[in-house]
Amino acid sequence: MNNGMRSTGSALEIQDLSHTYDGRRAVDGVSLRVEPGEVVCLLGPSGCGKTTVLRLVAGLEKLQAGRILVGDQVVAEPGREAPPEARGVGLVFQDLALFPHLDIGTNVGFGLRRLSAGERNQRVEALLRRLHLEGYSKAWPHQLSGGQQQRAALARAIAPAPGVVLMDEPFSGLDARLRGVVRDEALHLLKADRMTALVVTHDPEEAMFMADRIAVMRAGKIVQVGRPRDVYTRPATEFVAEFLGDVNRIDGVTRGGRVETPFGPLLADGFADGQGVHVLIRPEALRLAGVAAGPGAGPTQGAVKARVLAARLLGRTSWVHFCLNTDPTHRHDATAAGNEEHSHWHARVPGQFLPEEGTELAVSLDAQQAFVFAVGDTT
Ligand code: ATP
Repeated sequence: MNNGMRSTGSALEIQDLSHTYDGRRAVDGVSLRVEPGEVVCLLGPSGCGKTTVLRLVAGLEKLQAGRILVGDQVVAEPGREAPPEARGVGLVFQDLALFPHLDIGTNVGFGLRRLSAGERNQRVEALLRRLHLEGYSKAWPHQLSGGQQQRAALARAIAPAPGVVLMDEPFSGLDARLRGVVRDEALHLLKADRMTALVVTHDPEEAMFMADRIAVMRAGKIVQVGRPRDVYTRPATEFVAEFLGDVNRIDGVTRGGRVETPFGPLLADGFADGQGVHVLIRPEALRLAGVAAGPGAGPTQGAVKARVLAARLLGRTSWVHFCLNTDPTHRHDATAAGNEEHSHWHARVPGQFLPEEGTELAVSLDAQQAFVFAVGDTT
């Protein structure tokens, strides 16, 4: 963009941030660097402290411990804090609504008061066009749909080309289809202008869609930072594995660097003999015979027999419930107890694969997508 706007975002550096509310620790020693032009998602369950980190960076919460830099400027350290408007950050918060008494053009141009009227209009119109809101400059916020309002709020936040864009669950008010469209547009815009962004979400799919890197948070701490595929395929902890995606879970005990599963042994390097472990297996790691290898293929080597309990089409993939107990009296709603405990498995299969209930399958395991964690490791 022209108009004297910066074309690449600034680095954001968060150093050893901690925060308590009424003596309760909400953020605990968080450090994170976001490179210029990078989109990083802070991902974690409700209450883990993500919003507090974002509010501290934005200057909406008084800093207690740690330090925040935008570019090479310290914007906050204890006792020395720049006000929000002097930090070079743009905010897209779910509850930060458009100003209802200003039309869309004026809303979007709100942070551009230093530009001449002509330049301001040019920038506002260009942004509205890019977010498919051309023609809405004179409309009032209440005349726009939810998705249009979100896009206008995004345009307002990025209009002044802030060094860093901060987004807190920016798409959560939208229905599923619209959410996909708006976040796609947001990502294109961030990437086209090489903006730096820190995005808070509790939705792993959203994080994987948006992020160059994901920082997974739990109980005030960052537990893993990495590219989406690394966090998904090489989770550092059981919590990360389960938070990022569905898993089948069984208990085991290690012997000679391995742990037995119904699908054969898995490597369990670095565990002492007799260590109790949890084995987490992604549904897409379970290959159903004749599916992965193409229609008509015979049972895969090392496959075990299974029986279909139910199969559902989820759109791009099929979700197959099966049991390893091929006894036809085993019912779908059997409760998990005793030996039945691990008999209900889930597999995700690309495309349409909808075998009838009772069909026999041969199942094999892709060991790359199975993870072994020590029992009692609560990180
Ligand atoms: P969510 O996804 O539900 O917004 P979050 O991960 O963003 O959660 P925070 O909003 O940062 O989490 O909250 C972290 C913890 O701090 C929670 O236990 C929350 O109850 C508490 N908390 C947040 N804001 C305040 C506040 N203003 N006063 C007291 N406690 C607060």
